[in-house]
Amino acid sequence: MSTSANSRKEILIIGGGIIGCSTAYQLTRHPSFSSATTTIKVIEASKHGLAQGASGKAGGLVAKWAYPKELVAISFAEHEKLAKEHNGQDRWGWRYVHCGSWEGKGAVLSEDVDLDDGTGAGRRRKSLEKKLGLEDEGRKGNSVSRKRKGLPEDLLWVDEDLTHGYSPMAGDGDTAQVHPYLFTNSMMDLAIEKGAELVMGRATSLNISDGKITGVDIVRTDLGRKETLSATHVILAAGAWSPTLLSSLPISSTRAHSITIHPQPSVDIAPYVLFTEIALPERRGLTVSPEIYARPGNEVYACGPGDDSLLPKIVDDVVIDEVACESIWKHVSSISPELRAGIVDKRQACFLPIVETGGGPIVGAAPHIAEGLIIATGHTCWGICNAPGTAKALSELVMDGRISCANLRKLDPSNYF
Ligand SMILES: Cc1cc2nc3c(=O)[nH]c(=O)nc-3n(C[C@H](O)[C@H](O)[C@H](O)COP(=O)(O)OP(=O)(O)OC[C@H]3O[C@@H](n4cnc5c(N)ncnc54)[C@H](O)[C@@H]3O)c2cc1C
Repeated sequence: MSTSANSRKEILIIGGGIIGCSTAYQLTRHPSFSSATTTIKVIEASKHGLAQGASGKAGGLVAKWAYPKELVAISFAEHEKLAKEHNGQDRWGWRYVHCGSWEGKGAVLSEDVDLDDGTGAGRRRKSLEKKLGLEDEGRKGNSVSRKRKGLPEDLLWVDEDLTHGYSPMAGDGDTAQVHPYLFTNSMMDLAIEKGAELVMGRATSLNISDGKITGVDIVRTDLGRKETLSATHVILAAGAWSPTLLSSLPISSTRAHSITIHPQPSVDIAPYVLFTEIALPERRGLTVSPEIYARPGNEVYACGPGDDSLLPKIVDDVVIDEVACESIWKHVSSISPELRAGIVDKRQACFLPIVETGGGPIVGAAPHIAEGLIIATGHTCWGICNAPGTAKALSELVMDGRISCANLRKLDPSNYF
């Protein structure tokens, strides 16, 4: 990509998810960034602000064992650096976590639990039975039994009696977490401090003239009018919606539901992320695999499987299937009394951007479409982890004309379309 450090740059980033906001942040921290010569605008279509898609509704796992390796290598270190520089622990819940696979069976829930009733978490909590053998003493069992099952001494928020086995998936220090909504918003706040701007609007088309990107047409959601924003560089980071602006992009999407729970009693929920295999007692032979993430502040996040629901026009129109949320609650609470007695806070759904041909994400310049056009999408299930590395690479691409922090040739758009 032809560029020079001193030339004037007008950078438009389409999408206020973790990729767009992290890129805005990294651009403002690039050594040759100056607000006198470079403007950065993040365009976000949601009326409710940033991170309304997958970036606000993900688990938030950050792992050295994630993929693709070339992005993870820069991303994990960058997450650590960001947390140190900006007090990520308090600001976005950064911390190292244990991560393991848990196998066992779910407890039979009371038949009077109305699983189709999506309202009133308190009501559901009251309808639970107390006969499930969940008294603290019983659950703690003895240390011999815990050892045999591989259950760590401090993992007390899953029922030991229902556990068949636990095995750690990574060494200490190899897995961490962030609260993805807070992280995304913090990245944008920090970018704004250095001169970046947030534009509330939906991009409707990319403007290309003589093989070069010249700008983006938008509909302002705050002002209710159409505008054309000029640009020397456009970074397409609209997640699952990226193909709505560039139809040749091989990106598809999967809807996934998740819930957050405030466990009761309000005990210290040890920092574990569990990849579960739960045998359902009432459905012989059927297992389910919700992921469960303990978070700071007595919060637990859990997500279920994806489905093939159609992508709506904008993120604000994503439909939440209450039955799917109920299933997640039922499954995770069947192995944990603290979750079963807990108060469900959020029930949500979002669309994960997936590269149709496998692999990905797609990260880099697309001069075969237009000079100045950059693609950053298709981060699948590791976009929270890989956002800082993606963003750092893109900041170099725009400001220096080439990526030097990593070899991302495999992710180059020319490999995909
Ligand atoms: C259930 C679940 C759990 C996950 N857990 C993890 C995890 O633990 N760790 C991990 O690393 N990753 C995880 N992920 C993956 C991660 O959430 C995604 O890879 C990441 O959020 C993608 O970020 P994004 O910015 O590309 O997309 P998005 O978050 O979807 O953001 C795109 C933004 O673009 C906006 N937009 C779209 N079209 C336009 C337009 N025309 N004009 C303006 N704005 C537009 C949207 O409104 C949206 O805000 C999870 C995903 C799911 C679904």
